[in-house]
Amino acid sequence: MEALDSYFERLKNPDVESHANIRGRVLRSLQGFMLDAGFKQLMPVLMSPITDPLNHAVYPAEIKYEERPLKLTASMIFHKQLALAAKGHDKIFIVAPNIRLEKAEIKDSQNHLLEFSQFDFEMRDATMAQAIAMVDGLVKHVFKEVQQHCKAELTQLGRTLPSYDAPFPIYASDALIAEHGPQFEKIMSEKSKTPFFVTNYKREFYDRENPQRPGSYNNYDLIYPEGFGEGLSGAEREFEYEQILRRMRELSMDLTPFGNYLEAAKRGYLPPSAGGGLGIERLLKFISGKRQIRDVALFDRSVGTSFLF
Ligand code: ASP
Ligand code: MG
Repeated sequence: MEALDSYFERLKNPDVESHANIRGRVLRSLQGFMLDAGFKQLMPVLMSPITDPLNHAVYPAEIKYEERPLKLTASMIFHKQLALAAKGHDKIFIVAPNIRLEKAEIKDSQNHLLEFSQFDFEMRDATMAQAIAMVDGLVKHVFKEVQQHCKAELTQLGRTLPSYDAPFPIYASDALIAEHGPQFEKIMSEKSKTPFFVTNYKREFYDRENPQRPGSYNNYDLIYPEGFGEGLSGAEREFEYEQILRRMRELSMDLTPFGNYLEAAKRGYLPPSAGGGLGIERLLKFISGKRQIRDVALFDRSVGTSFLF
């Protein structure tokens, strides 16, 4: 049982303790920032008739309860939109576990886990620009808190976490594609010295198409520098029935499980909103300067894992 021995051997590495201290500080500063800004914290939902269809194919993660098929949460996107309808829930956040049974073609990814946690937020009546400004402040706050409270841990890990003061730059994906081609994200992440935002991706139906510029999308990603890649995805949301239906049909989606969601949209229960979801392990990986995402977790859930425990 060599694998078992190396598992327990790894637990003695001082990095493991540093990651734990940083993880605690990161979660505390993420939640503190949002609570101070008047956000309400929700508990995660783990199973539902609907979940995020995602922008890429994964194996289905479904269970059955009394003959009812229920999907395990791939992201809280629809529950965020629905939660905004509750009284006083204008700004919400959740620390949410997500299950995404990735296929073998990305088994070498340093950035994917089959099970991960997302720091998810949504704001009623907000624009993409407001969501981006919020993320800019949130991420800088977390970096500052870690720099202030986790000096020993960063030293132990051999990591110098840069300080960023200027607003993170915002680029449009079309301009970056014209300059760097389809690999723009990787190229820009490697050469950038600061985190940056990229807007306008064609992806899931729920990211809002720009009403003034059909074919453009009011969505954004946060990309970490030094080659660390994507850290967060977010958007303004589609909330109007006709438009949701059009976008779903464009993607040839099976509408059957979405009956109640579509009916809610038809009856005007979905408010306009913007939000995003930040990968917590990716943030920890960037802060810690680790290259493999499995290195910041005690239990390996990377795509090629043998599920030892
Ligand atoms: N769609 C994002 C995700 O990847 C989350 C969001 O947009 O809020 O989970
Ligand atoms: Mg994404």
